[in-house]
Amino acid sequence: MSEVRSVFVDEGVLDINYIPPRLLHRDEEQRILQAMFNFMLTAPYEMSQRAIITGGVGSGKTVLAQVFGRWLKVEAKRRRVNADYIHVNCRELRGSLFMVLRRVVKTLRPDFPERGYAANELMETLMQLLDEENTQLLLALDEVDALIENEGSNALYDLARAQEVRPNAPRRLSLLCITKDPRVFKKLDSSTLSSLQRNVIQMQEYGSPQLASIVVSRAEAAFRREAIPLEVIDYIAELATHEHGDARYAIDLLWRSGKYADVAMARQVTPEHVRKAAAAIFPSLKEESIGQLSLHEKLVLLAIARFFRHSTAPHASTGEVEQMYRIVCEEHGDEPRGHTQFWKYLNQLKSLDAIRIKLDASSQGRTQLISLAKITADDLEREVLRSIEQK
Ligand code: ADP
Ligand code: MG
Repeated sequence: MSEVRSVFVDEGVLDINYIPPRLLHRDEEQRILQAMFNFMLTAPYEMSQRAIITGGVGSGKTVLAQVFGRWLKVEAKRRRVNADYIHVNCRELRGSLFMVLRRVVKTLRPDFPERGYAANELMETLMQLLDEENTQLLLALDEVDALIENEGSNALYDLARAQEVRPNAPRRLSLLCITKDPRVFKKLDSSTLSSLQRNVIQMQEYGSPQLASIVVSRAEAAFRREAIPLEVIDYIAELATHEHGDARYAIDLLWRSGKYADVAMARQVTPEHVRKAAAAIFPSLKEESIGQLSLHEKLVLLAIARFFRHSTAPHASTGEVEQMYRIVCEEHGDEPRGHTQFWKYLNQLKSLDAIRIKLDASSQGRTQLISLAKITADDLEREVLRSIEQK
């Protein structure tokens, strides 16, 4: 075999979880975060704070929080102040407060026992641990909409009140909520809401030149020199600009284009590789968003796809989807879950770009209407099936 050559020097830089050494074009947002949470460094344990980061898919919400968290930890150490930052993705944790708290406690104490605790006990445990270490925690709740959809108002309320129930004790817990959909906060009761809404960072969409510089800096670290011409990078940025300035899409496109170049054993990435890559991605329903779903959420999604493959109606009712869900479960040799649970799964799917769910006005709120956006039923079915088989 001949020597395997690649256009990449370090693909890892294009990984979805990679945190770059620095952020571009987000200086102001970083300064606002620093100002909001500065008290953790200058007046530790005297205050706690809550804030929201909101903005479209790929506008850099997650990476902004993580880069800030990294800075906070370094800065705290430098000033000999105890401060920790923990980032959890609520959707990956099924929107469950219990799972969120368990993840946080496990991060602080890796040897913490798995079983035998309820959510409210974990909440107390968390505060105890912070007391024991005499530290303060900035907890970033990424995709917090999943938590609110699943738990209602209570989860955030409980988290926010963990402090208030101990009025004279040191302040230990601050919250940074991240969501692409600020409408979800409407579900909160007014006191929880008002304490959050004072601090909102709204991320603007990236324009084409901004995306280009983000893509250039990532490409420089990921590709061999000369392996990707500047005009190809610009082309990728242009495509991503059309996807509402989605930087995640841009970086995914960069990676896939490189993969196609490697498969073709080309020395350079060409526009044709980019077009191939673009044709392979559904910007509206990226794989990782399906990958994050639980098996039964995927089965509900499959039921939706199946319904529309066999129907000419633009909308499906919840009843129709539930019926199809039972059939799909049977095919997959899995016991269908009950009605209440089915509704919860359906609610979790609301956050996907490809699914629209609205109330049926004629049913007095008992039925929801489901439709597909930006994706064909065929494509959706194929993607979900692939994701189920991968697991
Ligand atoms: P969101 O959470 O808003 O959907 P992410 O934070 O996941 O978006 O960003 C998507 C991708 O783009 C990530 O790989 C991230 O590292 C990168 N990215 C976004 N904004 C910037 C930026 N300002 N500078 C460098 N990389 C960025
Ligand atoms: Mg994100």
